[in-house]
Amino acid sequence: MTEIEPVLPTPTREAQPYWDSLREGVLRLQRCADCGQVRHYPRPMCPACHSMADDWVEAAGTGTVHSWTVSHHAFHPAFKRDLPQTFVTVDLAEGVRLLAPLRGDAGRIAIGSAVQIEIEALDDDWSIPVVRLA
Ligand SMILES: [Zn+2]
Repeated sequence: MTEIEPVLPTPTREAQPYWDSLREGVLRLQRCADCGQVRHYPRPMCPACHSMADDWVEAAGTGTVHSWTVSHHAFHPAFKRDLPQTFVTVDLAEGVRLLAPLRGDAGRIAIGSAVQIEIEALDDDWSIPVVRLA
């Protein structure tokens, strides 16, 4: 039987610090170095003041459920073994949204449920944020 290679990110220059932080077990968010607005996903320009200067701040790792969905279809064979899988859009304490898979029991999930963000290693080089109901 052929082993299916995992699907891994291809970070942009702007997103590399995000993935480097996750590998260290920390969720950091991009912040405008001029006006201070936090943004996610990482991108070159601040949507508030159009500055190209940024820095990175450690996230509190807390938030609430904005929405969620349960995926029953694998869009790549590498994800088939994880189905069904719940994906949650989280309103982070920093005011931005993060999409990540849910870990643990999803039975009591609801819009507004308090969640914790954890970091899960895929291998030695790649880690992802995951969501757990608080
Ligand atoms: Zn700005």
